[in-house]
Amino acid sequence: MKYEGILYRPPSEARSLILQVTIGCAHNTCTFCNMYKEKKFRVRSLEEIFRDIQELEDDGYGPYFRKAFLADGDALMMKTEDLVKIMNRIHAAFPFVNRISSYGTAKDILNKTEEELIALRDAGLGLVYVGAESGDDEILRYIHKGVTAEEIIRAGQKLKKCGIGTSVTLISGLGGRGKVRVHAEACADLISKMNPEYASFLTLRLYEGTEMYDDVVSGRFERITPDEIMDEMEIFLKKVDSPGTVFRTNHASNYVILAGDLNDDIPEMLEQVATAREKHLYRRFRETGDLM
Ligand code: SF4
Repeated sequence: MKYEGILYRPPSEARSLILQVTIGCAHNTCTFCNMYKEKKFRVRSLEEIFRDIQELEDDGYGPYFRKAFLADGDALMMKTEDLVKIMNRIHAAFPFVNRISSYGTAKDILNKTEEELIALRDAGLGLVYVGAESGDDEILRYIHKGVTAEEIIRAGQKLKKCGIGTSVTLISGLGGRGKVRVHAEACADLISKMNPEYASFLTLRLYEGTEMYDDVVSGRFERITPDEIMDEMEIFLKKVDSPGTVFRTNHASNYVILAGDLNDDIPEMLEQVATAREKHLYRRFRETGDLM
């Protein structure tokens, strides 16, 4: 099976069957993101997708996978009836797959009816990864996210109501200098209202060729320091109220790795943040052309 272009998947899907059901991202305008810039968005045909599944089946991968991930950027753009057919085919070919997941934008989720989401859940969709990035509307507008915080919250609540888990990603430092508190508090508010199964922070990393990279180089956007990232995390952890959410900052871009359950492990994570800031115990990164 040949993948089209660079393939992205969440870290927790490293061992999953990755199936491209769409190519690229239909939105593709977020100013910090370079993931799908070289791809023109399209929905793949069922014929192409079934051919990929057949090939893997013929190669003996049937018993191999426990999880499946529907790539690329927003698989939920696909018609619900087609997604159901794909998931049925996945279960037939890979009988041990017990969870199917995908990325999903708030708009894609809101565009589906509750009946459609329930049909997707019944067909095996267990988790949707939502890149919320921030809970602040001004920041969301600045990065051209194309949705408001209220829409993201509503999308998460809709998934929950329909029995589909949510994994929400936020970005540390996305508000830049001057918006540390606003960003942290708005993220806490967003997570508290969504109460997702999983929540995590990446740290803002900028790639050459993106609009936000140019903003940094020209001085229009001022990035914050690792100490300020810790301030932001402290404000977030002191305000968030989302019992049961599994919380992580374990992405390659994070200065400090935190892992715990909200709200139970917040005191311990706050201690870790304070120690890291006091002793400057930050992970170091390999030198690249990107801006960390
Ligand atoms: S951040 Fe997500 S929605 Fe925005 S352009 Fe990148 S893949 Fe698309």
